[in-house]
Parts: sequence; structure tokens; C-alpha cells
Amino acid sequence: MINIVLFGKPGAGKGTQAEFLKTKYKLVHISTGDLFRYNISNNTPLGNLAKSYMDNGDLVPDEVTIGMLKAFVEANSKGGEGFIFDGFPRTFSQAKVLDEFLDQKGISISAMIALEVDEEILIERLLDRGKISGRTDDMNKSKIRNRFKEYNLKTSILREYYNKQNKFHSISGIGSINEINFRLSELIDSFL
Ligand code: ADP
Repeated sequence: MINIVLFGKPGAGKGTQAEFLKTKYKLVHISTGDLFRYNISNNTPLGNLAKSYMDNGDLVPDEVTIGMLKAFVEANSKGGEGFIFDGFPRTFSQAKVLDEFLDQKGISISAMIALEVDEEILIERLLDRGKISGRTDDMNKSKIRNRFKEYNLKTSILREYYNKQNKFHSISGIGSINEINFRLSELIDSFL
């Protein structure tokens, strides 16, 4: 079993690469952003709760996010040969809860892999993505900057958290999608 946390700033390519890894290593893909967007488009109470935070580019409160994540893992725990976490954990509490939760199931995170991309490149990518997807949080520079601020304040410390467990790895997220697929596979195959 292999459980990977994909890490990186908004727009780093986590979702795109998770799609590839999911197929290649038969993993269950868990994207908290996608789960929130699904709830918003279905007008669920959870979606209504998350919406204002997401629209502003703020993190959704931990208790909401953690509850949703646990429910999804429980419902999909038989679906593959491991999990790929995309967009979770994003805070210290989320990381601690995830470790405890997986531990109760007798499994653990194998590795955190960061996709490194400079903010100026990310802003261009996100604005381009916004034009195609219509995601409101990708259409406005100040919202994008706020997401980077949230990341730098609350999420970037998780490098250290996983580094202390000798699980932190990082690769460049700049290049073609295929090039990054290749870098990721090489890294993952090295610890399989
Ligand atoms: P991106 O990585 O481009 O910001 P996501 O789809 O991962 O896109 O996340 C979109 C938004 O969903 C975030 O800005 C945040 O509001 C919310 N969100 C997603 N995952 C989490 C999480 N683990 N904790 C809190 N909020 C989250």
C-alpha cells in the first residue's frame, strides 16, 4: 500500500498530477477542493458552509474539512492500493488528525511530495485556468494572493512536519505535464 500527500501552492499542478498517479499506481484520489466544489454545486449544507471561505481564498475551517475528509476515506477505503491526498492536509491540525486517523486503520503516509513552482508563474497559470474553468477564486489576483498568504502562513510548515518523519520530497513543478509525470514516477518508484 502506498499513501501519498501531494503538496504545493495553488496552481502547482497537484490535481493534474494526481489524475496520472491515480491511474498508474491504482490509488484513490482525494481532493478536498473537488469535494467542496461538488458540495457547492449540489447545494448541500457543507457546500453552503464552505462557499464563502473558498470564494475569498481563505481555508475552510479545520473541523469542517476534517469531517468531510474522514467520511470520504471511510467510504472509499476499499477502492485501491492506497490514497493520493491532494489539497489535504493544509494545516498542522489536519496533518496530526490524518496521521492518527490512518494509524487507527493500520496504515500511514508513505511520502509527501512537493511540486515547486514560483508564485509569479502560478499567478499566470491560475488566471489562465480561471478563464477556462470559471472558478471565481482563480479569476482575481487579490484572491490568488490571499491563497498564497494562507499557504505561507498555515500550510508551508507541513514540510517540516513530514521532514521530521523523513517523508518529505520535492521536485520541480515547472515543465510539461509529461515531464512532471516522469519526475514523479521516478521518485515514487525509488521508494516502492
Ligand atoms: P488550489 O490548490 O488551486 O487552491 P483547491 O481546489 O485545492 O485549489 O482548493 C480550493 C479551495 O478549497 C481553497 O482555497 C480552500 O478554500 C478550500 N480547501 C481545499 N482544501 C482545503 C483544506 N484541506 N483545508 C481548508 N480548506 C481547503
